[in-house]
Amino acid sequence: MYQLEGLLYSDNSKVSIKIEDSVISKVETVDKFNDASSSKRYIAPALVDNQVNGYVGIEFSKPDLSTEDMLKIVRKHRENGVMTFMPTVITASFESLKRSFTNLAKTLDDTEVAYSVPGFHLEGPYISPEEGYRGAHSLKDIRKPDWEEFLKLNEAAGGKIMQVTLAPEVEGAVDFIKKCVANGIVVSLGHHNGSAEDIERAVDAGAKTVTHLGNGLANNINRFENPLWMQLADDRLMCSCILDGFHLRPEMAKVFYRAKTPNRMILTSDMTMLAGLPPGDYVWDGKEVELTEEGVIMLKGTKYFAGASLPLRTGVENMMRFTGCVLKEAIDMASINPAKLYGFDDRGEIAAGKRADLIVFELEEGKMRIVETILGNISR
Ligand SMILES: [Zn+2]
Repeated sequence: MYQLEGLLYSDNSKVSIKIEDSVISKVETVDKFNDASSSKRYIAPALVDNQVNGYVGIEFSKPDLSTEDMLKIVRKHRENGVMTFMPTVITASFESLKRSFTNLAKTLDDTEVAYSVPGFHLEGPYISPEEGYRGAHSLKDIRKPDWEEFLKLNEAAGGKIMQVTLAPEVEGAVDFIKKCVANGIVVSLGHHNGSAEDIERAVDAGAKTVTHLGNGLANNINRFENPLWMQLADDRLMCSCILDGFHLRPEMAKVFYRAKTPNRMILTSDMTMLAGLPPGDYVWDGKEVELTEEGVIMLKGTKYFAGASLPLRTGVENMMRFTGCVLKEAIDMASINPAKLYGFDDRGEIAAGKRADLIVFELEEGKMRIVETILGNISR
């Protein structure tokens, strides 16, 4: 049995939490703490990140991805409060995608990896080929939805592809979405230039969320007809946002929050392999890039972003700063909201019977300083 005390993130009440056999056995409110320092410490569920491309110099699509590589990433995430994440593989050739999923699936034989990685996210290749919308996805590998191909990829992944990000306007998208939904796979709209009608049809077919709303979008868009309005307006759609402070302007985050409400927002890091490395110049994917001191990756010598590198808790901090929302809402967007979307019934909240994946942190001027992370199945 393990016990900890602190302020419950959702309502600031003083609580004592008991953990037995890796799960929370009891949450009770207390009048006062045994240890005075607990009065500054919040306890929240560990975070869930649905879009992670790599970390500490390791890309999930690297040809020889090993279990050791995965363990390094799992442990680095844990330090930062993330105990569930979905490795994400983006547009590439069939052979390359198949190899990536085969490698990823193999790492799940390790119980420590499997504990934190419930499944994978395939972002592309069935997205818009249009400049601006496709972002950094390789044009030559973008193609129309192909269910037979997807089945082969999912087989290589051991049936663990949990989310596909696709464009709703491309030929065959609606049929493909229906098949995903029938097979329990979450469909997310992203890197697309779909019309309001395309988006509505996709949602009718079962698409549930949007991948990094406001990104994967051209710089110049039509003020009447663009993918933003319908994705904001359709209350059936959730959305994920990269709130590293660079990928969206603060006022965009505020408008998205108001339109989608806290229940339909998910925070994601979308971090790339350069995350967790020291600032400086790198050659990444054949391109010269700079990882800045502030933590954004720029194409060297340009004003273009090449990727994200900040951990998910930065998104939680920025969400509060940009929108004025309370801690509970910001944490829920990075824990229970994604957990519900993917059907992770055992995590994302603090309640008896749930996995004891918890973070203990102090809030100093809006920054989360993680004091302790507790992982249900790891002995401490
Ligand atoms: Zn993307």
